[in-house]
Amino acid sequence: MKLRDIAIGANASMYYRMDFKKIRGVYYPKTEADVLAAIAFARENGYDVTPKGGGSGLSGACTGGDIDRIMMSSLQMTEMLAISKDMGYVDVQPGLTPDEINAVLEPMGMKLHVAPSSRDIATVGGILSTDGGGNDTWVNGTMRDNTIKVKMVTYDGRRLTVSHEGVKSDDSELEAELNNKGMTINDIASSHGTLGFITELKLFIRPLVNETLAGSLVEFPDYDALGQAVDEIIKRKSPIRYGETIVTAHPDVREGFNPPLLILQYPEGYDSELSEFVDVKKLDKEELKRMKDVRLKLPKRNPKKGVQFALFEGYGFHEESLRKMQSALDEIDALLQSHDLVPFAKYGHAPSKWYLGDNTAAYGIILHSREIRPEGKTGTELLQILLDIVERCESLGVTPKPEHKWPFDDKTKSARLSELRKIIGQGFNSFILDETCNGVLSSMV
Ligand SMILES: Cc1cc2nc3c(=O)[nH]c(=O)nc-3n(C[C@H](O)[C@H](O)[C@H](O)COP(=O)(O)OP(=O)(O)OC[C@H]3O[C@@H](n4cnc5c(N)ncnc54)[C@H](O)[C@@H]3O)c2cc1C
Repeated sequence: MKLRDIAIGANASMYYRMDFKKIRGVYYPKTEADVLAAIAFARENGYDVTPKGGGSGLSGACTGGDIDRIMMSSLQMTEMLAISKDMGYVDVQPGLTPDEINAVLEPMGMKLHVAPSSRDIATVGGILSTDGGGNDTWVNGTMRDNTIKVKMVTYDGRRLTVSHEGVKSDDSELEAELNNKGMTINDIASSHGTLGFITELKLFIRPLVNETLAGSLVEFPDYDALGQAVDEIIKRKSPIRYGETIVTAHPDVREGFNPPLLILQYPEGYDSELSEFVDVKKLDKEELKRMKDVRLKLPKRNPKKGVQFALFEGYGFHEESLRKMQSALDEIDALLQSHDLVPFAKYGHAPSKWYLGDNTAAYGIILHSREIRPEGKTGTELLQILLDIVERCESLGVTPKPEHKWPFDDKTKSARLSELRKIIGQGFNSFILDETCNGVLSSMV
């Protein structure tokens, strides 16, 4: 175990070369009063505050960059404060994971329907701050859709309760000013810890669904056919309960399957409507399990020569870029190859849902991407390639990093966060909104 893991917890991103001297304190609060005390220490000394949950975020935000800062972990804020089965909510501290919450709810026949693959380590405070979700966002929405309200503490130690309707605060002037700006949960979602520390969340819970599902495999001749089929599923609001795609896979890890393909689960009987627009091959239980397993194992496998890595985690294809996936993907692959990156695998959630920087909901395919790592590239070069991909995605109408939306590269979101920070204080995760952010991150690869 490395020193950083002991002192400030794990960090799953590729940004880990930190200047430890600039970490001026590490806090593990248990209560709101502990949080207030830690923030007061930071404020009095002019330090920034970096909130941290499970450290599973991939954008580097929970590292805090390279400024004098305190790290404030939520990992000891793990109490379930209230459960109402009748009214469908649970009140929790921010450091609990969805798995921990569901371990209590499921015996009661209830569930929090937020399921990122990292649900055993990612905390609900961190998931809202990145607006995460799993392969069921098409059905259950992202974290913001499952959050009723949050309590948080700002840099100057004021308290806010933010819901979908607006803000409440013990400071009535602040409350009026923020409501004037129309602040809601949409602003907290994907704010990457730049607004304050979340101390409590009220989350929607719903009964566990008991239905019989059938599974199918659909193969496509090309990417356009795949994109158009998912577009049709979206238009029809098809009752797809599980939808995953394998778009490309290196020949070394093909295992006899034939991408692009979709693996789907839906209520028994829905295949008659599905076969109106795609060629459905029904899967029995064993075959379905095998296909899900193949998909799950893709990011864990390597080609015979070289190793795969994730330079760029997510692409969101929607509307035109979904219907014309072939040309968008060809351009992205050409860009990768021009930088000596060999495409290894592309797979992801289809259909899926995410939000754009202006809070419009987008529906389409979220793809994760793996490449074979080029030799001899420096951190600065790798980050520059990543920024080139972000730029190319934007010109292609593809949302870059839909699950971990970088506020620092989403101009609408970062302008909004900067505007709100002028009112509520600017001492949280400041490097993210600074124009030097990309330079800072490249020095940490
Ligand atoms: C193997 C793996 C699989 C993954 N799969 C998915 C997936 O399927 N779907 C998906 O959406 N994501 C996925 N992720 C990404 C990741 O799990 C999410 O980004 C997660 O939501 C972050 O939660 P965390 O608790 O780890 O937060 P951290 O990584 O610790 O922090 C993330 C951000 O939230 C802020 N933050 C954390 N806690 C608080 C708080 N209490 N108050 C204010 N700000 C806070 C931090 O400052 C930082 O900006 C995956 C990651 C890994 C490593």
